[in-house]
Amino acid sequence: MYIVQIASECAPVIKAGGLGDVVYGLSRAVESRGHTVELILPMYDCMRYDHIWGLHDAYRDLWVPWKGSDIHCSVFCGGAHGQLCFFIQPHSGENYFDRGYYYGAVDDQMRFAFFSKAAMEFLLKANKRPDVMHCHDWQTGLIPVMLYEMYRFHGMESQRIAYTIHNFKHQGIAGADILWATGLNNEPYYFQYEKLRDNFNPFGLNFMKGGIVYANHVNTVSPHHAWEARYSGVSYGLGHTLEMHNYKFGGILNGIDYTTWNPETDSFISEHYSAEAFQNKVKNKKALRERLLFSDDKDKPLIAFIGRLDDQKGVHLVHHATYYALEHGAQFILLGSATESGINRWFWHEKNHLNNNPDCHLELGFNEELAHLIYAAADMVMVPSNYEPCGLTQMIGLRYGAVPIVRGVGGLINTVFDRDYDSYHPPTERNGYVFFQSDFNAIESAMDRAIGLYRYYPEEFEKLATQGMGYDNSW
Ligand code: ADP
Repeated sequence: MYIVQIASECAPVIKAGGLGDVVYGLSRAVESRGHTVELILPMYDCMRYDHIWGLHDAYRDLWVPWKGSDIHCSVFCGGAHGQLCFFIQPHSGENYFDRGYYYGAVDDQMRFAFFSKAAMEFLLKANKRPDVMHCHDWQTGLIPVMLYEMYRFHGMESQRIAYTIHNFKHQGIAGADILWATGLNNEPYYFQYEKLRDNFNPFGLNFMKGGIVYANHVNTVSPHHAWEARYSGVSYGLGHTLEMHNYKFGGILNGIDYTTWNPETDSFISEHYSAEAFQNKVKNKKALRERLLFSDDKDKPLIAFIGRLDDQKGVHLVHHATYYALEHGAQFILLGSATESGINRWFWHEKNHLNNNPDCHLELGFNEELAHLIYAAADMVMVPSNYEPCGLTQMIGLRYGAVPIVRGVGGLINTVFDRDYDSYHPPTERNGYVFFQSDFNAIESAMDRAIGLYRYYPEEFEKLATQGMGYDNSW
């Protein structure tokens, strides 16, 4: 099959979170099964150009119809760790992808509607006719709409679309001007409830809803989250739409790329190790401690949090866990970045407050290389999310022998099985700690159990960690 992935991220070139990991890892995995995979991405000024090989212009004069006129674009082509990528660069005053960041502009809807339109024009004009187009999240939600309503009348009638939702929170809501910009035009038609009209805002058009309504197959990133999306509030108002399109909606668990995430070969860590040579893991802990000027106390477990500092990730519990760990003889390392200014300020305040503590470090920002070393060094990784469509950090933690302590929601339920209480898996298949309530007592009790096992039954703790390493969460 010939498959084209169209997305706003692809790791490690463009990565803000799990979407980037998934687009890259899934492409590799599908290609290794004998399919042809290409990727279409925006050409951001701030992406990691050092991870692209042989970047050259592949299509010089792409004219994209936009707002009743045309925008001149170039399409560049290059290899991102073996994956063939096409990067779309518009030449217009709006500088859609030259902002120094990926997301967070006031005109994000216009930026990604333009990207979607340009991707369709590129496929059309470069005569690319994939069997399957795989679109991701709200940024590409208009692609299924445009394919069905416009491009199938221009020779793209046999293309089929898979649409994957990684996070329901961001849906892309825009006004009627988006129709004019993309050339979809017919306002009364698209404002119908069955089409793109937002389920709550009668004046809004919802990109993600468009993706759900028009794609041939829709999925979210874990079976449990697919259930939650239909029957609890985590689909942010799209539950009824999913119910109406239930026949083509499901949950498929993400994987992680086992070449990128492999403690036996990882070039960012100090010492390679495996479940069989688990004693080498501690050398990474030592290296991280030296780098961050931590005290070197064998009895102290190192607990890590790596992730976006966002409400979704349970920041109030992350904050509480930091102090609880310190009060209970553990060390805490946090690597995260916040886009919301209140949360950002809060964690900068904490960072300054804890600056001289030899058992704690808060690294605020995005640092892929450091993330690898932290997974290798940590004894436990913490994922106390309010909701979590799939979650990759617990899977990476498992792979690196860092025992996950997670809240029992979404994909975390599908991947972490409580050492003491899981009733579906025998003790030899359990791999972490799970708590359910989103309050301090719940997280404290899970942390007590993990820290207690580490301190008083180190052999049992090692058994739990190596058991986790045995899990296959590859694609
Ligand atoms: P998200 O909701 O952000 O997609 P996931 O758990 O699915 O969460 O994926 C998070 C990915 O991003 C993981 O690969 C994690 O290691 C990485 N990550 C998150 N925050 C940072 C950061 N500040 N620095 C480096 N890597 C990060």
